[in-house]
Amino acid sequence: MAVFSNGCREEPSAGDAGVSEAESRSNGAAAAVSPQKFTFSPEPSMEDIRRMQADFTDERDWNKFHQPRNLLLAMVGEVGEVAELFQWRGEVAEGLPDWTESEREQLAHELSDVLIYLVELAEKCRVDLPQAVLRKMALNRLKYPTSKVHGSAKKYTEYKD
Ligand SMILES: [Mg+2]
Repeated sequence: MAVFSNGCREEPSAGDAGVSEAESRSNGAAAAVSPQKFTFSPEPSMEDIRRMQADFTDERDWNKFHQPRNLLLAMVGEVGEVAELFQWRGEVAEGLPDWTESEREQLAHELSDVLIYLVELAEKCRVDLPQAVLRKMALNRLKYPTSKVHGSAKKYTEYKD
């Protein structure tokens, strides 16, 4: 297993020991593209990120600007910065094999900006995001049962609201 300087890991492919059959199936599409399964580092947690951004904002007396609407607009602006990095490239392969290290780092920065604003927006709206994700994933499993959508594009046609 490769461990990178930022702590993230690329684990052995799904066919190797230590990866369950269910995990292997759920990552089937990705495994067909890349033999490496990517995972995040366990830290920082979403609560760690909330606290870091709250401290950053408090230290600068910026809470007076960080109302929900402003945070939403800031997050959308950061999504635009992510989009700029993909603009005019055509399709991009998983793992971004043709990107330079500098481009990858820029993407990491912009994705982080999006996440930081998302977490702060959830905080200011009093949404407990980790728990909300659990509830929403449960709803998604009910809405898109594997028996009906497995391997098909129905999710994007018949089942999409
Ligand atoms: Mg940015």
